[in-house]
Amino acid sequence: MNTFLSAEQEAVRQSYLSFANEHIAPLAKDLESHKSCLKEFLQNLGQKGYLGIAVPREYGGQGQSFVFCALFAEAVGMVEPGIGLSLANHYAIIEVLKRYGTETQKSRYLPLLARGEALGTIAFSEEKAGTDFRAVTSTVAKQGDGFVLNGKKSWVVNGEFAGLALVLAKSAESNDALSLILVDCTDKVQQCTGDAGRLGLKSAYLNTVEFKDQKLSPEASISHAKDAADQIAIFSMDVAKVIMAAAAVGLNFAAMNEALEYARTREQFGSSIGQFQGIQWKFADMGTEGEAARLHVMRAAWSLEGEPETFSKSAAMCKWFAAKVARHHSGEALQVMGASGLMEDNKVEKLYRDAKAMEICLGTSEAQKMQLVDLLEI
Ligand SMILES: Cc1cc2nc3c(=O)[nH]c(=O)nc-3n(C[C@H](O)[C@H](O)[C@H](O)COP(=O)(O)OP(=O)(O)OC[C@H]3O[C@@H](n4cnc5c(N)ncnc54)[C@H](O)[C@@H]3O)c2cc1C
Repeated sequence: MNTFLSAEQEAVRQSYLSFANEHIAPLAKDLESHKSCLKEFLQNLGQKGYLGIAVPREYGGQGQSFVFCALFAEAVGMVEPGIGLSLANHYAIIEVLKRYGTETQKSRYLPLLARGEALGTIAFSEEKAGTDFRAVTSTVAKQGDGFVLNGKKSWVVNGEFAGLALVLAKSAESNDALSLILVDCTDKVQQCTGDAGRLGLKSAYLNTVEFKDQKLSPEASISHAKDAADQIAIFSMDVAKVIMAAAAVGLNFAAMNEALEYARTREQFGSSIGQFQGIQWKFADMGTEGEAARLHVMRAAWSLEGEPETFSKSAAMCKWFAAKVARHHSGEALQVMGASGLMEDNKVEKLYRDAKAMEICLGTSEAQKMQLVDLLEI
């Protein structure tokens, strides 16, 4: 880890871990069961500066590099990975605004996003457009000075209380070309279903959001040039994937720590099970592959600013690899804990469910490989 972090960066990382342990871990169960209000929790993170880590200072953020967002997501992933999904969406829209936004868009939204007064989300998926996200049927048409949006979006993270959504639609005017628009959700014109119950990452909300003749200002469009929508959509997903992968790294080490504690104290055949080589080797694998995933994530996070031409490749690699490592090794951690690991009040049971969802959300593992096949020109 320290290979890439200065002493100052390492100190910040330690402060993130302390914050996650002291202020997020005690709420994890209530956040997962929605007994604690997620919107208030996220707004509180915003007030403390964690939502605006990479927002430039002139727009009210901390002005840090994107690497710090990944470090924060890893710390969060150790205690409540579902929050990592919310962060992934939020940080993605921030990076899109920073790279592609007009000055008006940046000065209007970045301060709100940094303070958590608006929570960001990405609304690409539809009932018939998942991995093939370009198959969206939502439409955006010019109307007067502005636009009008129609369509139904599936699996929108925190859609029911998002303040700003990045929405992918077909442009009604130009031969079905893709268009990306920023929708200020505070208008409340859109309709929204309740949270979709599911296996994992349950603390984040997952809503279907329908836009019916939603009027948008002339400033709503963020994809002006030809092919820009496709490029920006991929960029936003790449940012979100790196954050999700960072949370997966945290999840892997959290599962490992839980299982280690158990292996040291659980006795069978007259000794602790941690004395058996069959158990010890599981930890050797968890530690090694966990560190490899962490290096992948750190490289991808660094490349956003340090080597932008390799960012997309690194993002796809680290999402695929970190989610696989988290799913496999949280399963191994559960195995170490035997029947206790299967119990609903066991943290590893929850981490295992969350890890599986990580292999699907923000693009499946197969989708990451498809992206890599393109980028590596196989
Ligand atoms: C927890 C969670 C959060 C999400 N958050 C968001 C969000 O904020 N915004 C948003 O827009 N969407 C979101 N999604 C949707 C997510 O991006 C999609 O679920 C994902 O892209 C896969 O689409 P699908 O579920 O329709 O599966 P499908 O595309 O129908 O795929 C089904 C299976 O076929 C495989 N497959 C598809 N095409 C190919 C191919 N060409 N070659 C090989 N295999 C293929 C897939 O990998 C998968 O295994 C979220 C989903 C989840 C579960």
